[in-house]
Amino acid sequence: MPEKFDVIVVGAGPAGTACALVCAKNGLNVLLIERGEYPGSKNVMGGVLYRKQTEELIPEFWKEAPLERPVVEQRFWMMDKESVVSFGYKGMEWASEPFNNFTVLRAQFDQWFAQKAVEQGALLINETVVTECIVENGKVIGVRTDRPDGDVYADVVVLADGVNSLLGKQLGFHKEFRPDEVALTVMEVINLPKEKINDRFNLEGNHGCTIEIFGDSTKGNLGTAFLYTNKESLNIGVGTTLSSMIKAKLKPYDLLDYLKTHPMVRPMLEGGESAEYLAHLIPEGGFRSVPKVAGNGVVVVGDAAQLVNAIHREGSNMAMYSGKLAAEAIIEAKARNNFSEASLNSYREALYGSFIMKDLEKYKDAAHTFEKYPQYFKEYVPMMNQAMSKFFTVDGTPKRDKQKEIMKSITSERGTLKVLQDVYRAWKAVK
Ligand SMILES: Cc1cc2nc3c(=O)[nH]c(=O)nc-3n(C[C@H](O)[C@H](O)[C@H](O)COP(=O)(O)OP(=O)(O)OC[C@H]3O[C@@H](n4cnc5c(N)ncnc54)[C@H](O)[C@@H]3O)c2cc1C
Repeated sequence: MPEKFDVIVVGAGPAGTACALVCAKNGLNVLLIERGEYPGSKNVMGGVLYRKQTEELIPEFWKEAPLERPVVEQRFWMMDKESVVSFGYKGMEWASEPFNNFTVLRAQFDQWFAQKAVEQGALLINETVVTECIVENGKVIGVRTDRPDGDVYADVVVLADGVNSLLGKQLGFHKEFRPDEVALTVMEVINLPKEKINDRFNLEGNHGCTIEIFGDSTKGNLGTAFLYTNKESLNIGVGTTLSSMIKAKLKPYDLLDYLKTHPMVRPMLEGGESAEYLAHLIPEGGFRSVPKVAGNGVVVVGDAAQLVNAIHREGSNMAMYSGKLAAEAIIEAKARNNFSEASLNSYREALYGSFIMKDLEKYKDAAHTFEKYPQYFKEYVPMMNQAMSKFFTVDGTPKRDKQKEIMKSITSERGTLKVLQDVYRAWKAVK
């Protein structure tokens, strides 16, 4: 192994692999370091992989990548203790090329994806932990690993080391994240025969469905649960911000057990066998929590830079796209032979001009609003359920009278002014 590379990428998740792939494809000498036994072995995701950003790296990847199902239906459940208000969209245009998104199992996908970077010429080393960045005269010049004689050098080091990013912290790019900036999520993979999945989710062939669940799934706390279909298994998970979990004294595995036995969920899982249990943090601080992303000889991508849109559960696509933008900036820096912060700041500019920062900026107040005003999940979701129950129960009451009764019960429970304030506040947070 040469001692000096053009680029060292730390972490072979979607962000690091995307960056390594683009750099290697453009002739740079790339070392990709992964601490896991293989890429994906330690990685956790609910499972929705987005076509658009993946396709920009590997055209028509769906013809060969290890994918589970193309998602043709997205459902949203507002769940109360024994009921659910459901809405969503199912469209056959998502069932054929070029598709919209797919469910995946990360242990398989990440391995395949990293192999694509290797095919372009990147050198992948597994089972190696980067313990620190080597800094000289204020410039990152390489990394120290846990291998004997494990120092390696490069013009640029890419921090793609995920949500905790101890390396970003070492460089002073960010502090320890606050409990309201990260969500703790637990999930389980439950094996179930394909026919049962298709019957229960009203699916045909290899078509997939995703369900995002709000309200009682987190006992009214800020967070969501999900239930996604794979070929022969389901991914079910639930998470809330760490701050909500601490405040409400919740235990994540209790929440998952509660969700699995909920009357709306239990029949979907009936007879399934638990195959895997996983827990992971999600960076959910949004726009204001994004740290410094470029320094002298270093850039930060993906979860390490807090690039997750929690409202739309987009993370893997932002990781890949930021990896690609970082690679393009590194290629330009190489042409200039200038790896200073000023030179690598073209990555920062591209990132802030992209859909990633535009979307994070759009929702910059959302999490804060919904955590500060818990009535949205705690009160309005049960109210919606009660209203629907009242409206659709046929009991001889004229429908206009029912409408009036529903409006009266909502405004008398919270007060008309408060309801108007809540609606305005929610609109402002997501507009
Ligand atoms: C439960 C859950 C559900 C989610 N669902 C979705 C979803 O449905 N769709 C979606 O798009 N996103 C989802 N996300 C978010 C998504 O998983 C992340 O945004 C994405 O994985 C970020 O990619 P990354 O490459 O930045 O980080 P990671 O995928 O975390 O990869 C970081 C890599 O770095 C390695 N590493 C870390 N430190 C070191 C070190 N010091 N030395 C060497 N290697 C190191 C790790 O082993 C890992 O392979 C979910 C996340 C969770 C936790």
